[in-house]
Amino acid sequence: MQNFIYLLGDPARREAAVVDPGWEVPHLLKTLQEDGYRLTHVFLTHGHFDHVMGLAQLLNAADVPVYVHRDEVSSLSVDPSNLKPVGDGEVVHVGDVPVMLIHTPGHTPGSQCVLVEDRLLSGDTLFIRACGRCDLPGGDPKQLFESLSGKLKKLDDQTVLYPGHNYAEVPTSTIADEKRQNPFLKFQTLEEFLRVVGVR
Ligand SMILES: [Zn+2]
Repeated sequence: MQNFIYLLGDPARREAAVVDPGWEVPHLLKTLQEDGYRLTHVFLTHGHFDHVMGLAQLLNAADVPVYVHRDEVSSLSVDPSNLKPVGDGEVVHVGDVPVMLIHTPGHTPGSQCVLVEDRLLSGDTLFIRACGRCDLPGGDPKQLFESLSGKLKKLDDQTVLYPGHNYAEVPTSTIADEKRQNPFLKFQTLEEFLRVVGVR
């Protein structure tokens, strides 16, 4: 599936979060331990199985809160006592590092991106030179267009993009490069966007 799983943390406090623990939980835990970090948070960009499959195993190892957009909660099958439903623009601190959650529906109703300083973890909303599918259950092309044009395109050009899958020749990009080269950020109108995503 070529998923990217991200670790982010506060190097002073040695506290860290996992974003989308879909796979390889023992490897994630080992990496945290080797780097001297304590797991304190989990963030989910959305509830698809390839992004959440390792969640139960991870929570067995560390009883930590799981931040998920409130519109995505119903798609998850984890212990609800760990779930922390959040809304658009909410900020959660990992150690002293502020992490902003941006609601970007379209791929799923409760998809969210994770913004840490100038880095955007975009889940399956925006890929390098592509965007997430909106033809799966819960997908909505109009919402995806709004999320891409109304929110992600408006981030600072220097923002570094870390997508949810390794679908491109390089693992990261920037909003500036994507605005230049990603066809799904170039559509000016919803009609043009729908014409293309509608036939995929
Ligand atoms: Zn997905």
